[in-house]
Amino acid sequence: MPHYTRMLILTLCTALAVVGLTTPALAKRAHHHHRSNGLSISMSSFGNLPASLGGTAIDRYTMRNSHGMSVSIITYGGIIQSLRVPDRNGHEDNVTLGFKDIEGYTSDAYIKSNPYFGALIGRYGNRIGGAMFTLDGVTYHLDANNNGNTLHGGFKGFDKQVWTADPFRTRNTVGLELTYTSADGEGGFPGTLPVTVVYSLGRDNQLRIDYKATTDKPTVVNLTNHAYWNLGGEGSGTIENHLLELDASHYTPVDSGLIPTGAIDPVAGTPFDFRSFHRIGDRIREMNQQLVFGRGYDHNWVLDAPSGSRLHTAARLLDPSSGRELTILTKEPGIQFYSGNFLDGTLYGTSGRQYRQGDGLALETQHFPDSPNKPNFPSTVLRPGQTYRTTTVYAFSTERGRGHSERRHGR
Ligand code: BGC
Repeated sequence: MPHYTRMLILTLCTALAVVGLTTPALAKRAHHHHRSNGLSISMSSFGNLPASLGGTAIDRYTMRNSHGMSVSIITYGGIIQSLRVPDRNGHEDNVTLGFKDIEGYTSDAYIKSNPYFGALIGRYGNRIGGAMFTLDGVTYHLDANNNGNTLHGGFKGFDKQVWTADPFRTRNTVGLELTYTSADGEGGFPGTLPVTVVYSLGRDNQLRIDYKATTDKPTVVNLTNHAYWNLGGEGSGTIENHLLELDASHYTPVDSGLIPTGAIDPVAGTPFDFRSFHRIGDRIREMNQQLVFGRGYDHNWVLDAPSGSRLHTAARLLDPSSGRELTILTKEPGIQFYSGNFLDGTLYGTSGRQYRQGDGLALETQHFPDSPNKPNFPSTVLRPGQTYRTTTVYAFSTERGRGHSERRHGR
């Protein structure tokens, strides 16, 4: 490439970067800028949706701290597109499954296998049996997008919507506020639902997600994020060697369509007992009807901590080879552990490597699947005048520094 062409490209890139950093949204909150705390947020273009999906320009916001953690969120689906953290030797890797460009998230292969990489999920995370529910005597029919059931909000859930983004800084965090208003009747759900999701990063390698929603008609709400983790780095192979701990003595068994039967069964004596660390691959091939239904783990665990306003530890995931550890704290009563069973090798991720079965796992904090049809499960009903609020924290540490994240969760 001739020298002047290279110079021109370099100048254009610099100009774009400067424009990115002085976007009106950032400037608007500039007065919140505190003296350098090692936290930053920048914006860049992530390309345009295909014309068939409206052609909208998609932005990517990247938050960084000075402890080697960076998180990139795109305005399409509020997707965590990349999340980099150091291993025990300080080497940074992207530990979440995704793609390098918007084409990856909108390709036919992606839509077909529909893994929801990193996305915000709504209006109802996980399944609603028979794609319907009855509330106050009215039966609502929802999108049947998963074997006659509703999965993750229907055909065009929150994961496929374009969110409005507003970056901000506080004294101890840098963050991105995302808003989206789900229309009355969207996917079949009643009520206009304005939703706010705030991602924030602190100096302590914790990514926090605060969810909020209100409604103008009685409805059901169950919001989560669908990040897939591979603490060895995305595209590095199986997660079967990861160690998992779930703070749950019970889980909700399912039928062959992965709809809870309504039972709340003890995990004791089953492959679902993760009350202490277990290697994920250790029991995944045991002869067990539930593992057959899920093709592995794809179940909701009932967290022991009383659900309510306090953050409690739900899960710990440890990769012995890199030493990376993820602690998940939540205010939700349940967590779906999905061992990436339906990843089928048709997708090539961010670094160009193929994602095969079990190359990533999701830990989705949530209310239980099919709660709208299960009166014995904690309620997901939201009524006018009430505000839905919940929080989940992904706290990263390394094995050597274990204990660090737990001590700091009470923000
Ligand atoms: C569900 C799986 C589903 C996956 C991706 C998970 O939350 O439990 O059954 O395959 O999402 O769609």
